[in-house]
Amino acid sequence: MNTGNADHGSAIMASRRNSSECPGRAVNRGFIVSACLAGLNCTYNGKNKLKPRIRELIKKGVAVAVCPEVLGGSSVPRERCEISGGDGGQVLAKKAAVKTLSGKDITATMVLGAKKTLAIAKRLGIKRAILKSNSPSCGYGMIYDGTFKDKLKKGNGVTAALLLRYSIKIYNEKDDDYDL
Ligand code: SF4
Repeated sequence: MNTGNADHGSAIMASRRNSSECPGRAVNRGFIVSACLAGLNCTYNGKNKLKPRIRELIKKGVAVAVCPEVLGGSSVPRERCEISGGDGGQVLAKKAAVKTLSGKDITATMVLGAKKTLAIAKRLGIKRAILKSNSPSCGYGMIYDGTFKDKLKKGNGVTAALLLRYSIKIYNEKDDDYDL
């Protein structure tokens, strides 16, 4: 996996209360969180979207930070991408595509990242996620509309859509009504 630079950290950053826990052992608590919200420099332009409250969850050992796009094989930095002709659910149904600003179809990469994120949640028994709003991967409720003009439309990103299918409850970074 080409990740472009050394500053973005790992696509997965996990913390557990008991460091002796086996990585594959189900914790039956906690959250998947978008890695950019935890401070990893994994956005398309190599920056982060740090929310200190999300990073605290990592420090408390109740969250696993995941970047689906990097997990799927995208580099950091990378071209911007948006869902064209639908939303994440339609991408999973093969009725819409994810394309970069220059028109490259990266649907397979985005679906792979979503599947890997779901696999992590299943392996750890995690049933909740706090995801970055508006993203073609992590967005929940609203996503960019495919025109690359910073316009939004209703819908979920590819990873959010897949997690929802498996009854994982999703919050975004603006929510603060989840219990630890
Ligand atoms: Fe990665 Fe999701 Fe953040 Fe995009 S929004 S950089 S896919 S964690």
